[in-house]
Amino acid sequence: MALRNLVLEGDPLLRKTSRPVDEITPRIIKLLDDMADTMYFEGRGIGIAAPQVGVLRRVFVIDVGDEHGKIEFINPEIIETSGSQTDNEGCLSVPGKTCAVERPEYVKIKATDRDGNEFELEAEGLLARCICHENDHLNGILFIDKSVDGKVYKAGDDDEE
Ligand code: ZN
Repeated sequence: MALRNLVLEGDPLLRKTSRPVDEITPRIIKLLDDMADTMYFEGRGIGIAAPQVGVLRRVFVIDVGDEHGKIEFINPEIIETSGSQTDNEGCLSVPGKTCAVERPEYVKIKATDRDGNEFELEAEGLLARCICHENDHLNGILFIDKSVDGKVYKAGDDDEE
C-alpha cells in the first residue's frame, strides 16, 4: 500500500487540464493502485482524480460503496446525461468545505480499464454525481466553482470526493 500526497485547493495543479493516457504502463497501474489506497485511507473518500495526487493524466477512481465496488476510469468521456439532482459535495482536495452542486441524475460514460478494454457504464444518483465531480477535476474544475447559491460552507461529516 502506498499513499500519495494530496494536492490541496490553492495549488495551481488543480486548475490544469489533464492529458490523456496514451499507453497503460506499469507507472499508470501503480498510479491507479496508489490513488485507491489514498482514497480509502481512513475511509475518507468515495472518489479521487489523478490531479489530486499531482499527476495531470485523465484517470480517476471511484467507490461509492454500491454493488460496483471500485471502478477505475482511464480516458473517461461522458457521452450522455439527463435529469438533475442537487446535493452537498466535498472533496479530499478541499478539506472542511462543502456546498450544494447541481449535477445530472443520470450519466453514461465511456472509459478504458487497466487491461486496456473500453467499457461503458450507466450511472444514477450518487455514482453519477461522483463521476461528474471527478471528471471535472480532469478539466481543472472544482465543486466549489459550481455552488448553487455561490457560497461555500464548513463541512460536517459527509463523505468527501
Ligand atoms: Zn474532488
